[in-house]
Amino acid sequence: MHSLRCNICGAEVLGIYLEKGIWEIARCYSCGLVFVKNIPSEDELKKTYGEDFFNDVQKSPLKGSILNHNPSYMNARRRLKTIRKIGPQKGKLLDIGCATGIFLKATKSFYDGTGLDISQYATDFAVQNLGVKAYCGSIFDTYFEARSFDVITMWDVIEHVTDPNKYIQKTSKIIRPGGLLVLSTGNIDSLMFKAQGKKWHLLIPPMHLFYFNPNSIKRLLAQNGFNVIKISFDGQYTNIGYIINKLKRLHAKNKYVEFLGTIAKMLKLDRVNIFLNLYDVMTIYAKRNGRYGE
Ligand SMILES: [Zn+2]
Repeated sequence: MHSLRCNICGAEVLGIYLEKGIWEIARCYSCGLVFVKNIPSEDELKKTYGEDFFNDVQKSPLKGSILNHNPSYMNARRRLKTIRKIGPQKGKLLDIGCATGIFLKATKSFYDGTGLDISQYATDFAVQNLGVKAYCGSIFDTYFEARSFDVITMWDVIEHVTDPNKYIQKTSKIIRPGGLLVLSTGNIDSLMFKAQGKKWHLLIPPMHLFYFNPNSIKRLLAQNGFNVIKISFDGQYTNIGYIINKLKRLHAKNKYVEFLGTIAKMLKLDRVNIFLNLYDVMTIYAKRNGRYGE
């Protein structure tokens, strides 16, 4: 039988854990990592992150009073609060997978922020509309000085990359000892996944290639010189329009979902913000120790 090595612990992985569409997904029974077996090439994946990938909330101009009601901006402000409580309160920040730059905008008064994203569309938007510093590229093709960042954030990024171990390894080189790495990703062992199985809203290959649980993500970070200090399930602000669009994608051509969408639009509910916590997204806070790769 065709076997693979686990990206985190190197154990041999056999068989298929589950299938979604054409995608075969395997599970490492040693560390818990779940992953797509046939990972597409970087070039192939890049095509996924054009303008259509980003939602209306991310593409909002974020000016004046609109800013404080943008759910992504509200989430960014909550995240900023926690980061400042735990980690360096100022300094150089790198936001990997910065999308349209909303987090950078929210953190601008405290950190000297730089954003990085593989989407040209997103980084252009960030620079032109939000006035933040953002570059199109990956951490492998952009030069950063070793140990130069005080804070590195990766919001919903690690599940998209083709080699998480290599990615975290690189991150651990450019963050300074004592620096804070914060990342968020879905929890494949959450009750939501257990209840919904293949229909879980975060099970979306090939966009999401790797699926973690608290154990596997801790191991990935520990082996690259990070001490995990906290894992939380924070929930987030979102708007009803976004949820309906997500349902539309998950249940294509379902007439009840279409109906719900029409009603929400008619009642102008699609722009209404709500706070939602499905307890299936982990936020991991980890500090770089001084020992690794000295
Ligand atoms: Zn493993």
